[in-house]
Amino acid sequence: SKEHGQLHFLVIPLGSPGHYIPTMDIAKLLAQHGVRVTIVTTPVSVVRFGSILDQAIKSGLPICFLELPLQYTDFGLPEGCETIDALPSFGMTKALMVAYNSLQQGVEQYIEKLNPRPNCIVSDTFLLWPRETAKKFQIPRIIFDGMSCFTQMCNHVLYLSKAHESVGESDLFVLPGLPDRIELKRSQLPFAFNPGLKDMYDFQQNIRASESEAYGVVINSFEELEKEYADRYQRVKGDRAWCIGPLSLCHKDESEKVQRGNKSSINKIECLEWLDSQANGSVIYACLGSISRVEPTQLIELALALESSKKPFIWVVRAGHMTENIEKWIDEEGFLERTKERALLIRGWAPQILVLSHPAIGGFLTHCGWNSILEGVSAGVPMVTWPQFQDQFYNEKLVVQVLRIGVSVGAQIGVNGALFGDEEKPGVVKHEQLRGAIEMVMGDGKEGEDRRKRAKELSVMANKAIEVGGSSHENMTRLIEDIRNQVN
Ligand code: UDP
Repeated sequence: SKEHGQLHFLVIPLGSPGHYIPTMDIAKLLAQHGVRVTIVTTPVSVVRFGSILDQAIKSGLPICFLELPLQYTDFGLPEGCETIDALPSFGMTKALMVAYNSLQQGVEQYIEKLNPRPNCIVSDTFLLWPRETAKKFQIPRIIFDGMSCFTQMCNHVLYLSKAHESVGESDLFVLPGLPDRIELKRSQLPFAFNPGLKDMYDFQQNIRASESEAYGVVINSFEELEKEYADRYQRVKGDRAWCIGPLSLCHKDESEKVQRGNKSSINKIECLEWLDSQANGSVIYACLGSISRVEPTQLIELALALESSKKPFIWVVRAGHMTENIEKWIDEEGFLERTKERALLIRGWAPQILVLSHPAIGGFLTHCGWNSILEGVSAGVPMVTWPQFQDQFYNEKLVVQVLRIGVSVGAQIGVNGALFGDEEKPGVVKHEQLRGAIEMVMGDGKEGEDRRKRAKELSVMANKAIEVGGSSHENMTRLIEDIRNQVN
């Protein structure tokens, strides 16, 4: 009977590591809960990210890929370039989004031939076409945007109050009606509140319209982390917002830790050996995510701060973006020579989860991407926060002010303008600021102690949330039951 038939979900990720990786994890969790999953993606992305699910598929979980080719040159994209981190400039994001529309036809042809039809679509919120497809075939659509409940609520109160509209660009103002007193500047808000960035702004308004029509939302978070915000967001979404994270923990029982997304410049063994040789809690891990385009001058400030912190450190320099300038500086300065006793430089892609869960790590200097924050929380590591754009200034507030497991480097202005080649210059952070924050987090003082203790407590909660009976596990069960009820 239908009631006992296996549910079938289409899962549609966005081509950006920070979205793609957790979406693979959602697919795995659904399959572990007995749902058959088809991931709609491209051949290039399967090669790059598919291995995240190798173990899961090998162990017999019902996951498969529907691979549809993407047109590149038609949309002005370099051949084979289909993830945000691989774009030559951030301004091409829009072209990429348009290119992704070309998947729609193939997916609809696939659905037409299926009997019964898929029961649910889980799609990245940045993809707009699944809205039409879901409507056409009357399939409930659940969206995933990779952000926290805290961020959702910050956005929500701004949309309602328009509090940002009546203040100057660099005035601090309070986000009204939140459980905590959250103060930000307009220049720190996400694109959705910056009409100056016309393309991104318009795009965000379309996303918002698409979200308001979706059946529900899945969130990579766990309720215990941000209880009041999760409760409120639930109310906003009529109880169809499910916190099912931290998603990255769904691989923690696998003997072989997964490589999430890319080959590293350094092999895992080498990296672990280096970490093994360091004292517990002594190393600062600095990584600014997969898409941030931090100015070389700012990266130099970071390098100087790491050096003067006198702590052992891992510094990840992301591939592609103005790397020559940084390499030149490293070379000319003899930076690696000066720091060789205690530095590990990773060029390109770091095995971040593996690094963060090593006992030698004592702090995480992060750009505050939500995945990175949750990975830090899951590993129980306190943070040094250096937000750049989008939801990252919100995430910093959550980490520093609400959870009190981090110290801000004091970044003032988002790089939103700079990303799009605007005249506006991003805020400049000095190495003294960076070093001060590192010392506070890594230091022996009570400040450091308290943060470390709280980070450890949150890590225990995170790991409980995903176990059978834990809040995130229960929420996944509820979500699937909800969809089953729709079917019947
Ligand atoms: N990541 C990684 N190695 C790197 C850079 C990033 O494994 O060198 C992973 C990281 O663990 C996280 C994701 O890529 O899961 C980045 O997502 P996040 O939301 O933190 O930031 P974004 O890159 O989207 O700005």
